[in-house]
Amino acid sequence: MTELDVRSARSDQLVAGQKSQWEIIVGLEVHAQVTSQAKLFSGASAAYGGAPNAHVSLVDAAMPGMLPVINRYCVEQAIRTGLGLNAEIHRVSRFDRKNYFYPDLPQGYQISQYKSPIVGEGEIEVEPEGEDAIVIRIERLHLEQDAGKSIHDLSPSETFVDLNRAGVALMEIVSRPDMRSAKEAAAYFNKLRAIVRALGTCDGNMEEGSMRADVNVSVRRAGTREWGTRCEIKNVNSTRFMMAAIEYEARRQIEILEAGGSIDQETRLFDPDKGETRTMRSKEDAHDYRYFPDPDLLPLKLDEAWIAEIKASLPELPDAKKKRFMSEYGLSLYDARVLSSDSESAAYFEAVAKSRDAKQAANWVTQELFGALNKKGLELAASPVKAEALGALLDLVKDGTINGKIAKDVFAKMMETGEAPGAIIEREGLRQVTDTGAIERAIDALMAAHPDKLDDVKQNPKAFGWWVGQAMKATGGKANPQKVNEILRAKLGV
Ligand code: MN
Repeated sequence: MTELDVRSARSDQLVAGQKSQWEIIVGLEVHAQVTSQAKLFSGASAAYGGAPNAHVSLVDAAMPGMLPVINRYCVEQAIRTGLGLNAEIHRVSRFDRKNYFYPDLPQGYQISQYKSPIVGEGEIEVEPEGEDAIVIRIERLHLEQDAGKSIHDLSPSETFVDLNRAGVALMEIVSRPDMRSAKEAAAYFNKLRAIVRALGTCDGNMEEGSMRADVNVSVRRAGTREWGTRCEIKNVNSTRFMMAAIEYEARRQIEILEAGGSIDQETRLFDPDKGETRTMRSKEDAHDYRYFPDPDLLPLKLDEAWIAEIKASLPELPDAKKKRFMSEYGLSLYDARVLSSDSESAAYFEAVAKSRDAKQAANWVTQELFGALNKKGLELAASPVKAEALGALLDLVKDGTINGKIAKDVFAKMMETGEAPGAIIEREGLRQVTDTGAIERAIDALMAAHPDKLDDVKQNPKAFGWWVGQAMKATGGKANPQKVNEILRAKLGV
């Protein structure tokens, strides 16, 4: 047992094998691309896409004699991220060469940080869905270069190399092996993504590969303390795949161990089509890379005042936002979690809640809006209903122009057409009927049509609901429900 080994799986997290119960141990190495216009050591564009090899400087192409120059902006983003992870900022850090040969890495080494990373230990609070919050420790964050891309599918006999990505700044954020389930790992990744997005240090765009995870998985028999041999699943770029990969990999290891075999330390790939992991290469150890300090780069020394300045400029982070949503708006922990998890949702909610009933606003955003967006497969940014329009709809309920039920129909139309609620209400004649004369006439007609139900409601108070339903239906759902209740009670004598 080591001092790292502080968390034990809860009994409901254990995985049953044929012979015994097993604990899953997960640690993540997340590569997050710094939102910088230029690369880490050159002035070439770091923009996604572009014609192949359009964003390549002589430094990125590793021409002889070229010298790397550190990009101050990228260093600042690493510090911001470190502060956002409640981590130690190292006043002195170093860059090392990590040697390996890939066609898409013309230097023959990656400039990374090995023994002296810019950011040391930290921790973040993570909230697995439907579970209590847990603390996951961060081991380190270091800056390093991304590699280029080999393209194998343009020709049957040749491989092409695109160096646009070569030299782009990455922050590698390494967790402690603190996670005990696929769900915890996904929650950790999502929280990390929410933090870097709130900080603006990484756009978190997983489709473009701006954030991807290497997932370390091992298993051990429940109740034992020594670590199992781990396998690393490379470059997982969605939390759904991450969870599937962890679950598959844990089962694979358990089966081998229960059959008396042993786990080979290796790097594996997850195949999303087959839902399984397979061997990519046997895992290198650090000494295989022959790390050594890059003689072209001086130690990176940080100025106290600069760190303080960055600290003072940090935005409100998701956890602080969550707490504020609970205290300022009286939201439940659940709603506060959902609405603070990304800055777009938070801003949308606050725009709707401003000078309105905040709990009602939270309900509309988390249930009606998110539900409808989900159905349409749309992101919040692409929502046909903007915060101002949803706010206007709530105002129309509050001032009695429409009732709550009609509001849902109007909202559905807003989602379809992107129109303002007022326009839909006027065009479709959905204004609430508060004219008691009209409601009375509708109720009189109902009573004349159903004389048999009149006695019924006197003996059985539950039958009153039937009358309310019929009266609402008779007015096309537009009647003021309170007035309908009052008039019905008076006329039926209940
Ligand atoms: Mn790395």
